[in-house]
Amino acid sequence: MTVLTALSKSTIPAGFKTGLVELLQQNNVAISNHKDLNPSGSAIEYELEGYHDGVKNKLYNFSNESKVDIVVQPSHPTRQKKLVVFDMDSTLIQHEVIDMIAAYAGVEEEVSRVTEAAMRGELDFNASLEERVKLLKGVPVTVYNDIKKKLNLTPGALELCKGLKENGVKMAVLSGGFQPFVDWIKEVLGLDYAYANVLADDGEKLEGKTVGRVVNAEVKAQLLAEIAEKEGIPIEYTVAVGDGSNDLKMMDRAGFGVAFSAKPIVQAKAPSRLNTGNLADILYILGYN
Ligand SMILES: [Mg+2]
Repeated sequence: MTVLTALSKSTIPAGFKTGLVELLQQNNVAISNHKDLNPSGSAIEYELEGYHDGVKNKLYNFSNESKVDIVVQPSHPTRQKKLVVFDMDSTLIQHEVIDMIAAYAGVEEEVSRVTEAAMRGELDFNASLEERVKLLKGVPVTVYNDIKKKLNLTPGALELCKGLKENGVKMAVLSGGFQPFVDWIKEVLGLDYAYANVLADDGEKLEGKTVGRVVNAEVKAQLLAEIAEKEGIPIEYTVAVGDGSNDLKMMDRAGFGVAFSAKPIVQAKAPSRLNTGNLADILYILGYN
């Protein structure tokens, strides 16, 4: 059996429902059951019979047209995941921390120039991280506490993590950002693991380089597998949530993936996408509601 979850910022219009039924019928997919998941009607779940990959692109386009997210996955037995791994910047928090440190250090323009070069494909993640971190040389380590005070969680982050914890789900943050911030968010959200890049300092100032393993896309995927193994959780029972292209590998490695408020190219490649702006909607996707 397959489950389809439809999610929107507000009440899902009747036109979406009739359009969806029509599309599925035309493709010989039957709806065996459906239910509203909340009183506002912004989340609906459909049980499907006879779902096949031929419908995938049609549903994707229909979701684009109707501006309602459509998440399709097998309903049994792996839907209720046991390990959820999150990206941090622009996923659990509403910021890109490196840009905040750069602004603090007065090297915003230089850092964004490197970021843009990386986005054009001129630099890979490790090289661009190295370039950007070099620009932070001499920044006082008090920067960490000053920035932590300014961080805002993404709407629904607390509710989501509370809900997952109540269901015994293990949680990790895997970030291409910096360790003091993931340690902070681990505390705030009650996560079980926190991995990011470590910046060298002399006790007072940043030295402009990283220490140890750089957390890039491949390492995020490796860490996911390592944590799953340590916890004795089969990979099918894991899900990765992120917004960036360096989150696609961990989504691919995991049993499922959710692109959260991601760039169009990431949305197109990810196993599923969520654009409601509310992380708590992931509870509906995973069947923890
Ligand atoms: Mg991110």
